[in-house]
Amino acid sequence: MYDKGTRKLYQSIFNRFNEIEDHLSANKAGTDIAKVNAAAGIAPVVVHEDTFTVTEAALRYAESSGGAFDPTIGPLVQLWNIGFNDAHVPAQQEIDYTLPLVDFRDLQLNSEQSSIYLPRLGMKLDLGAITKGYAADEAVRIAREAKSPRGVINLGGNVYAFGVKKDGSPWNIGIKDPLEEDSIVGIAEVRNKTIVTSGVYERFFEADGMRYHHILSPVDGYPARTGLLSTTIIADRSLDGDALSTAVFVLGYERGHQLIESIPGIDAIFVFEDMSIRGTAGVIESFTLTNELFRVRK
Ligand code: AMP
Ligand code: MG
Repeated sequence: MYDKGTRKLYQSIFNRFNEIEDHLSANKAGTDIAKVNAAAGIAPVVVHEDTFTVTEAALRYAESSGGAFDPTIGPLVQLWNIGFNDAHVPAQQEIDYTLPLVDFRDLQLNSEQSSIYLPRLGMKLDLGAITKGYAADEAVRIAREAKSPRGVINLGGNVYAFGVKKDGSPWNIGIKDPLEEDSIVGIAEVRNKTIVTSGVYERFFEADGMRYHHILSPVDGYPARTGLLSTTIIADRSLDGDALSTAVFVLGYERGHQLIESIPGIDAIFVFEDMSIRGTAGVIESFTLTNELFRVRK
């Protein structure tokens, strides 16, 4: 939705999305990620600037989250295969076998050569938790370069509301209800910010009355269970928001909150399994609860 949304602008944004997918998708043949994964334990692979930039950022977030966010999560993601028809709960033995392959500390980046190396056979990169954020930032960059003064870009879970509305008022962005489709828990007011949500509802399957969602704990290899239904980050860059929403979901409220408060200019909203909502100081004042099934807690 752009004020000056021309066909040409949409076209260049969608072309850019296709490029990013061709470099960064873990589920497509011929991408940089597919090449890096195929060369694990064999050789470094020279990658496109997009791939290097996003992997470098992912590694930084792996470090700052103490490995809760881990771009080498690939083998575990493939083992669970959540979001695909054959998703199933793996045997404990399979998890035990796969977990040692997940370790960002082994990831080798060479900025001079723009190459990436996974030193052990079977290691796999998966940048699914950060790529949409990068794509949203690129869309905003292209729109701004085309002199578009304002707009809302929505990539599903990643929203970027850039500029301010014509009358100068902030954008009202709905925060999804993690339990009910087409429903929201409340509204956050933002100006020129990205709002990124990670939640249990995005991709999941059910087995034996249990719900297994797609955000995995690199500690035990299971979908992260920290009492949260969703985490939302409000930031200037969607790349940061995307990485942090996933990281904070895995860390849980206490450690996640601490991490967010340590980074200036970033806010978070936490929606808990007990239907309570908490937020960092910078956001909770401008958050309006619209769903009476939930309550805001200080
Ligand atoms: P998001 O929806 O941004 O939270 O990203 C979830 C996606 O990131 C999953 O579908 C996986 O591809 C990947 N992923 C799952 N768990 C993790 C994790 N602990 N660290 C990094 N990426 C993850
Ligand atoms: Mg994410």
